[in-house]
Amino acid sequence: TIGKIFDLTVKKYPNKEALYDVRKNVRYTYAQWSERVNRLANALLNEGIKKGDRVSTFMFNTEELGTAFFACAKIGAIFNPINFRLTSEEVAYILSDAAPKVVIFEKALESVITSIANRFEQTSFWFIDEEKPPYAVSFHEKLASAPTEDVHIEVNENDVYAFIYTSGTTGRPKGVMHIHRSMVDQSILCIAAQKLETEDVGLVTAPMFHCAELHCAFLPRVHVGAKNVILHQFNPKVILSLIEKEKVTKFFAAPTMWNMLLQEDFSQYNTKSLKLGLYGAAPMAPSLVTKLHDQFGIRLVQAYGMTEMGPAITFLSEHDQLRKAGSAGQAALNHEIRVVRTKEDGPSDPDDIMPIGETGEIIVKGPSMMIGYYNREEATEKAMYKGWYHSGDIGYMDEEGYLYVNDRVDDMIISGGENIYPREVEDVLHAHEGVLDVAVVGQPDDRWGETVTAFVVKKDPNLTEQQLDEYCKNSNSLANYKRPRKYIFCEVLPRNASGKIQKFVLRKQLQELLK
Ligand code: AMP
Ligand code: MG
Repeated sequence: TIGKIFDLTVKKYPNKEALYDVRKNVRYTYAQWSERVNRLANALLNEGIKKGDRVSTFMFNTEELGTAFFACAKIGAIFNPINFRLTSEEVAYILSDAAPKVVIFEKALESVITSIANRFEQTSFWFIDEEKPPYAVSFHEKLASAPTEDVHIEVNENDVYAFIYTSGTTGRPKGVMHIHRSMVDQSILCIAAQKLETEDVGLVTAPMFHCAELHCAFLPRVHVGAKNVILHQFNPKVILSLIEKEKVTKFFAAPTMWNMLLQEDFSQYNTKSLKLGLYGAAPMAPSLVTKLHDQFGIRLVQAYGMTEMGPAITFLSEHDQLRKAGSAGQAALNHEIRVVRTKEDGPSDPDDIMPIGETGEIIVKGPSMMIGYYNREEATEKAMYKGWYHSGDIGYMDEEGYLYVNDRVDDMIISGGENIYPREVEDVLHAHEGVLDVAVVGQPDDRWGETVTAFVVKKDPNLTEQQLDEYCKNSNSLANYKRPRKYIFCEVLPRNASGKIQKFVLRKQLQELLK
């Protein structure tokens, strides 16, 4: 269990520095941190929290979030970290779905909770900062009055450890249920992929509410007794000075975050300690890989995955970054990946495997698969059809077993019976000098089923529909049926919290326009 691996590390490395919370400027050894974890565990027990009860967190990156993670694990409470970018109504939806007994939150996000707290009378709100609002209690007073003795609650490896709500590029967020055993397995394969060691110093800078940071970086480092430096919010300058000061060796960040780091003036910082950069959520452009390598001399490793799988299911190793540019890598330890024929009516058949190089839906099997979505039986059955997790991602496998991720199944356009992957069309338009941003969706069509529509954000204000159409015709890389039949110019494209374009919003806008 997650509580057990924490205790084992504490026993092994009691006097080693475990974490540094930059916001509060406090440092804990593993023994000191364990005392805090035990206090919180006891405080939650005093509150009447029982095995299976939910405890939510709504915070940026803090020591308190990390402490809640292990305290919940030790008493068998279900940990529910909520995305700090959500609006009050979105948070209210998750609170009514997960029905937590306790919500731990912070000053920077107080207004979101204040506007909805009165709807949740059964919930106790614990505030981690000074000057708590009237409806909340003080987290630190709760801790101060609780004993430091270890708790003795029997937690089984098959007990649910967390509900993690997916960002949802489609519809309402769903609570992904993970069990202890699965996340211990996910942690082990992430330790292997990053070659994590006790001497490592990691920087926690991507959001801890998301399982990429939580399960692929933060947890594995605790697992091996390494140190976590917790940064409240992403800030390129602070990151560079922390790398120098704390001698950071490894950390995870999305490609856009790495790109932002490269915009800074490096001559002021010593970043020699940095050995490895993990990235995910999207592939990294080869030019960026080369720049990062030249600037930091670091090894880069890509992870591909999804909340439902814990998340990592493939890794692209340092050696393959340029040789296999554009690929998401090979299956992670103990994982099996297939690309299968997509079906229009219902889940794809796991045994209808596509030939090498041909696109289909990516499905996967492995030890860190969720046990299902909370309260969503139908969605669970579809997602886990015949024991394979159906990712909804479209991709293909090459002759060496490397996976390439293209698009989402739901975003695929079918025109005259032909499949069109929006990414292909978007890549062509992206290359046009006058285009800043672009997203392609299907438009219902009586004759063809669907035709291609492009939403375009202009870089050149004089850009016209005709110019773009000419460009596509002359590009030589788009078959006639893939060419957009309509262009819609807009100011900005709708994106979700993790930066992915929300195509369902665009499809809705298109419907409105066609009325
Ligand atoms: P989430 O469940 O929020 O972690 O989002 C998972 C989705 O992000 C996947 O289904 C993919 O569409 C996308 N994704 C994650 N990692 C990568 C990657 N390395 N390359 C391309 N797409 C990715
Ligand atoms: Mg998803």
